[in-house]
Amino acid sequence: MNAAHPWSTSGERPGSPQARIWRDRADALIAEGRIDGRALIGGQRVAAQDGQTLACHSPIDGRWLVDVARAQAADVDAAVRSARVAFEDGRWAHQPPAERKRVLRRFAELITQHKDELALLETLDMGKPIQYSLSVDVPAAARCIQWYAEAIDKVYDEIAPTARTALALIQREPVGVVAAIVPWNYPMIMAAWKLGPALAMGNSVVLKPSEKSPLSALRLGELALKAGLPPGVFNVVPGLGHEAGQALALHVDVDAISFTGSTRVGRQMLMYAGQSNLKRVFNELGGKSAFIVFDDVDDIARASETAASALFFNQGESCNAPSRLLVHESVADEVVARVVAQAAHHQPGDPFDPSTTMGALVDEGQTRTVLSYIEAGHQDGARCVAGGTQVLQDTGGQYVTPTVFDGVRNDMRIAQEEIFGPVLSVIRFADEAQAIALANDSAYGLQASVWSGHIDRAHRVARALKAGTVHVNQYDEDDITVPFGGVKQSGNGRDKSLHALDKYTELKTTWIRINGA
Ligand code: NAD
Repeated sequence: MNAAHPWSTSGERPGSPQARIWRDRADALIAEGRIDGRALIGGQRVAAQDGQTLACHSPIDGRWLVDVARAQAADVDAAVRSARVAFEDGRWAHQPPAERKRVLRRFAELITQHKDELALLETLDMGKPIQYSLSVDVPAAARCIQWYAEAIDKVYDEIAPTARTALALIQREPVGVVAAIVPWNYPMIMAAWKLGPALAMGNSVVLKPSEKSPLSALRLGELALKAGLPPGVFNVVPGLGHEAGQALALHVDVDAISFTGSTRVGRQMLMYAGQSNLKRVFNELGGKSAFIVFDDVDDIARASETAASALFFNQGESCNAPSRLLVHESVADEVVARVVAQAAHHQPGDPFDPSTTMGALVDEGQTRTVLSYIEAGHQDGARCVAGGTQVLQDTGGQYVTPTVFDGVRNDMRIAQEEIFGPVLSVIRFADEAQAIALANDSAYGLQASVWSGHIDRAHRVARALKAGTVHVNQYDEDDITVPFGGVKQSGNGRDKSLHALDKYTELKTTWIRINGA
């Protein structure tokens, strides 16, 4: 681990004035002990019952941030019990929709009011550039909570068109206690995608953030309380996956698991449900999305720029990163040259510098994983045309350069397995049929993108792709109103949009006889 301020003490990298402002704020947050790593159970900040903690270090420079509660089965049980009591006594679920809306809107406002602090936590904890924590993560989390708050009193139930002799009411009811288990790449946004619809529908939630990035989730829990969410309705249990996560997923008093993470752990979620109470499981899992550029593309420069920026955004640690670039052989050389030129603009830098577009990977383990895939690419015969190296080791942080492999075959490991880092595989194709076959030759089916100037081809290919979302001539449109999720081993169920409400509600039918009708 390095001493504090590796960026500003180095003569070679003195850091911009704006970076120093953010770093000073971060220093104050840490030095004044304002980061609280305790769990949130029943409205109280509490240590793990056995007192164990996990040291939380920043991937920016390796420095210690805080010790975080290492929740075990007993802590998880306390959180689930508190969520259950809160659910059954109706302190939240039975409140008028307008009141739940008021509280969640206030929660969203508080997130916005605390944007600097939350952005700092996100950047310190998982290494992403401060400019994106501020402009993407915090606003998206706030907007998500606000949007579901607004939805609460606009979702109507149904009366079925039955015979006149009876009335059949079909009503949504909250499922009860929801376990939200989330990953580290967008800690706040992933939490918000679960919390928004689950809380809006009146459920109680136990949130298990990733051990690699638990800080913003814990702070969100406090802000929700401050907004007026009754104690016990939203609990946060930080800890390890095979300890806190497993205990939560196996708990017999949890009614639903809303999981976002790897396909490997998603499989375990299904097993945990089978081994316990058959709780419903919704899995949002990994991806290996194809970005397909045809020879009739209208704007080859924009296509190449979009492929690079979408892949390198968030250090390539995005489930929907377009990590397979499928290019028609007649335009491949030009696309590769342009993507390589773009990679130069995404070199890793100080995450606290507002001009930095690529920050640190989440931890040393992730750096090792990414480097091992780069090695596999070399061994399998792909040609590395950009990046491929670890840099800035003297900072004590975790930085890998944006990497492009050309000449990749779709059966290579770097084309089939999710790397979750800044590594792009370029695969060349000869015709439309081959492009579709290559794109679909994947265990995953999260997203895809089609670049073509011909509307018939765009529609034809979009229809043929097995993916939850297909983009045409773009990749970055995003809105809370639009469902997000995958097919095949990318999971089931959808986050975002009104469709997400289905995960957090049961349908209750009530038949009422009408005499003399
Ligand atoms: P992960 O599966 O390792 O961990 C996710 C969460 O599960 C963490 O909180 C972890 O502590 C917990 N966990 C791990 N092992 C567990 C176990 N045995 N029992 C219970 N809980 C356990 O994933 P990650 O490395 O944190 O995140 C990266 C993955 O998330 C990638 O595969 C990425 O594609 C995926 N992801 C998917 C989406 C989506 O919407 N589809 C969004 C973001 C990330």
